[in-house]
Amino acid sequence: MPNSSLIEADRRHLIHPVINYRAHEARGVTVLESASGSFLRDADGNELLDAFSGLWCVNVGYGQQSIVEAATAQMNRLPYATGYFHFGSAPAIELAAKLVELSPASLQHVYFTLGGSDAVDSALRFITHYFNATGRPSKKHFIALQRGYHGSSAIGSGLTALPAFHRHFDLPLPTQHHIPSPYAYRSEFANDGALIAASVAALEAKVAALGADNVAAFFCEPIQGSGGVIVPPVGWLKAMRDACRKLGILFVADEVITGFGRTGPLFACEAENVEPDLMTVAKGLTSGYAPMGAVLMSHEIYEGIADADPGAIVGHGHTYSAHPVSAAIGLEVMRLYHEGGLLANAAALAPRFARGLDALLAHPLVGDSRHRGLLGALELVSDKDSKAGFDPSLKLSDRIASAAYRNKLVFRAFGDNILGFAPALSYTAAEFDLLFERLEKTLDDVLAAPDVRAALDHRAGVIAC
Ligand code: PLP
Repeated sequence: MPNSSLIEADRRHLIHPVINYRAHEARGVTVLESASGSFLRDADGNELLDAFSGLWCVNVGYGQQSIVEAATAQMNRLPYATGYFHFGSAPAIELAAKLVELSPASLQHVYFTLGGSDAVDSALRFITHYFNATGRPSKKHFIALQRGYHGSSAIGSGLTALPAFHRHFDLPLPTQHHIPSPYAYRSEFANDGALIAASVAALEAKVAALGADNVAAFFCEPIQGSGGVIVPPVGWLKAMRDACRKLGILFVADEVITGFGRTGPLFACEAENVEPDLMTVAKGLTSGYAPMGAVLMSHEIYEGIADADPGAIVGHGHTYSAHPVSAAIGLEVMRLYHEGGLLANAAALAPRFARGLDALLAHPLVGDSRHRGLLGALELVSDKDSKAGFDPSLKLSDRIASAAYRNKLVFRAFGDNILGFAPALSYTAAEFDLLFERLEKTLDDVLAAPDVRAALDHRAGVIAC
C-alpha cells in the first residue's frame, strides 16, 4: 500500500493506544518503516534518532541479528507450545530459571504474560488468591502511588493513577488507593530524608486508616515512568519495602520500565538490595522484539497458592503464556545485556547522559533535570522560581514533539511538559552528542515562537538568550 493509502486505512480502521481519537484522525498516522541501531526510518525516508527505545523497551537497540537468528531458529523448531496440560518448551523453562538466577533472591517462581498490563493483572489475581487461600480473605485493598502507571488492564488501570485511565472506566475501585509520589522537584520537603520519611508516613497512615488486616499490598515503580520520570531519592525504595514488611502487607515492585538495565543494574531493586514479594517485568525482557512480560513471585506466595485446595486447578492462564519464540528472544536478550556488554556500555555512558540533561538546566525553558542510569527527564517551566507550568492552550508538549521530529529526534513529550528519555543501552558516545545537539536545537526552536517567549517574559521578566 502507498503511504497515503496507509494513512487513510489507519484513520478508518486502526485504533491506537492512549490517544485522542479525533485528534489522531485529523493528524494521521506517522508510519515507521524500518530501524537500525539507534535510528528509526519513517515512510518519507526521515532517519530519526530514537531517544526513547520505542516505548522504553528496545533496550538492546534495533537490528540485533543474533536475536533475529534465535527467533528464526525457534520458529523453525517449535513456533508454539502451550503451557497448559503439563506441556512446556525448553526456552521458556530456561528463561524462567535465568530470571530467578538474575533477580532478587526472594523471587523464585515465574509466570509469563504477554506484556506489562497482564503481568500486573496476574500479580493482582495471584495476591487475591493467596490471601483467600491462606485464610486472610479480608485483605482486599491495594495501595499505589499518585502519578503511578501500572498498565491498562481492567483492574490494574485502577492502580494506575493517571486521570485518562480512570475517566469513563469506572475506576479506581473502592479497594484501590493512592498516596503521594516521591516527587522531589515539587515537594515541600527540605531534603531527601524528609521526603522518604513522608512517603513512609503516608503509607503507614493509609494502612492504619484501612486497617492492616484489610490491606493486601503496596505496588510501586522504583522510578515512576509514565507519570513523568519521577526519580525518588536513593533509599526510598528500601524504606518503602521495609515499611511494608512491618505493616504486614506485600511489596510489589513494578519493574516494567526500570528492569533490564534501564537504571544501571539489571533491576532497580538490586541497587538498594530490595527483595520484593512480587515483581512485574516486560519491555526489556524481550527488548520489544516480541511480546512478553512476567510476574516473579516469592516461594511463600507460590506455596500458599499451591497448597490452597488439594487437587484443585488454579484458574489463571493465557494461550501465549511462556511463548517459546518470545522466550528464545528473551534468552538472547539476556545474553546481550551481560556477555554482549550492553549493561557495561550503559553504565559507562550514563554519566554522559546525566551531564547532557543537567547542562540543559541552563536553558530558559528547563526547570528540572532528573535521571538514573539511562532513564531521564527534563521538566519545562515558565518560571524557574515559582516552578509554574504553561497554559494548556499553548499545547507546548505537542509543539516540542513536532519540533523534535523536524530535528529528527524522537523522545516522549508528556502532556504536562515533562520530556522523557530512555535511550538504548547500545547508544554510542557520538549518538549522545547528537541527541543533545538535536534536543537543544528543539528547545531553542520552540522558544523562538513569540507566544512561548511571551509566556516566559510574562512571568519571569526579561529572558536572556
Ligand atoms: N507497568 C509499568 C511500570 C509500565 O510502565 C507499563 C507500560 O509502560 C506497564 C506496566 C504496562 O505494560 P504494557 O504496556 O506492556 O501492557
